[in-house]
Amino acid sequence: MENKAIVIIDLLNDFVTGKIATERAKNVIPNLRKLVEAARQNNIPVIYSNDAHYPQDVEVTRKWGEHAIKGTEGAKVIPELEPKEKDYVIEKRTYSSFYETGLESLLRSLYDGKGVKTLVLGGLHTNICVRHTAADAFFRGYKIVVANDGVEAFTQEDHEEGLKYLEYVYNAKIISVDEIIKEII
Ligand code: ZN
Repeated sequence: MENKAIVIIDLLNDFVTGKIATERAKNVIPNLRKLVEAARQNNIPVIYSNDAHYPQDVEVTRKWGEHAIKGTEGAKVIPELEPKEKDYVIEKRTYSSFYETGLESLLRSLYDGKGVKTLVLGGLHTNICVRHTAADAFFRGYKIVVANDGVEAFTQEDHEEGLKYLEYVYNAKIISVDEIIKEII
């Protein structure tokens, strides 16, 4: 894993305790806390990719209903994973963390302009935003690592199917947070 960045996707109040919450989301909190703390200690960039919807966004009007509306409490990162001063926070308006967000230019600017090469993905949901972010990362040539205990979905089936898809289609390395930390240090 060279020039890594950690991307934490949609660990927002509405996804964990609010409008489209699933109990399963809570499974990832202690693991992702460990991951971001280890990353910060090792100067690995931590990037939060957060839904920040307008009410007219297609995702809101056609699919999920109101969630993570920009500026609301529901759109804030959960308190347990609150971004720290040196972390990066980007706002997205649909599933992919790359789609019209500026993530790509941020990734290029890191490591003294040499750019990020490997993206370590965690967050919600395995088969939706994590999948679409992985797709866009793959198209752009990034290596992809997914923390299998740092992502979750609405059901066990969605989660497992989601992990298999990430591995099969994007050649993502699927490993635990502890294994990722071992490689970082
Ligand atoms: Zn959304």
